[in-house]
Amino acid sequence: MKRWAQATRRLVETPWRLVFIALSCFSLLAASCALIAGSGTYTVTVTAWDRYVRLGTSAATVGDALKEANVVLGPNDYSFPTPEAPLTQGLDIKVVRASLAFINDGGRIRAIETAKDTVGEILSQAGVELGPEDAVIPPAEERVPDDGRIRIVRVTYADVIEEEVIPYTVERRSDGSLEAGLVRTLTAGKEGLARVEYSVRYEDGVEVSRQEVSRELVREPSPQVLLVGTLQEVTRGSDNIRFNKAIEVVATAYCPCVKCCGPYANGYTHTGLVAEKGVIAVDPRVIPLGSRVYVDGYGFAVAGDTGGAIKGSRVDLCFSTHEEALAWGMKRVKVYVIE
Ligand SMILES: [Zn+2]
Repeated sequence: MKRWAQATRRLVETPWRLVFIALSCFSLLAASCALIAGSGTYTVTVTAWDRYVRLGTSAATVGDALKEANVVLGPNDYSFPTPEAPLTQGLDIKVVRASLAFINDGGRIRAIETAKDTVGEILSQAGVELGPEDAVIPPAEERVPDDGRIRIVRVTYADVIEEEVIPYTVERRSDGSLEAGLVRTLTAGKEGLARVEYSVRYEDGVEVSRQEVSRELVREPSPQVLLVGTLQEVTRGSDNIRFNKAIEVVATAYCPCVKCCGPYANGYTHTGLVAEKGVIAVDPRVIPLGSRVYVDGYGFAVAGDTGGAIKGSRVDLCFSTHEEALAWGMKRVKVYVIE
């Protein structure tokens, strides 16, 4: 081990040995390039994707010289100068091998073998024609990216005519002859109609934006007119009833009997009142429990009960007897909420 190290050091330290090592390295480098030194008329060099050749040749054209250098051009490879060019002394011939580019043209992808550098050159080799607004990614003047992908976004325009509904406005008028809380429609609103022309921009067939070109009024909308009640006092028989609001409801009837209230009825309401005439069941979201009310055809009452079926504009009127409840049946009436 120690002797080997000493021998190596002696070898490296000797100047002549150093020269020998340098020469060896140089000849290795030279061997990596093919040197075809014939006794030709010209000495030229060929630089291809995989080799560098120095060639002595009597060939007349670049193409012949490439053959002698065993460089076979594929249909889309190219050499500079071109194969037809005459050979001259000292010429440096460069060969570029074709690679694949993938052109995504509005969603359709095609592969093309090309030795061109820029996107624009590749597209013209592929015979792709671009419209004035079509976009190319990367731009035509840039080099094709390493993955070979080129994207073309086709931009087109079309005129589109659409009918558009114009909503009507709502006009509310106070009406002193209508009870507060009630609203009546005096005039039904009517929607208008417009015919609108748009210029629509499509990218690869998909709409991306639109601009209004013209608008033609086909039909003017007409407003809806609502009458809003403000009346807060009505007369029923000898009673003057002042109220906060009136509600139109569907009123059904019941009595405390087993048929009306089930076998477990105890004769009391939800709020602990005795179930009797003058107590009505309400939806508390519409008429608050405890409200004093006047029900047309029934009289003064208290909103003192609720019921599973009493939802929204519905009330259930309690009568003393089953016969009276049956006689009422079901009616559409106004309830005046007094307080
Ligand atoms: Zn009953």
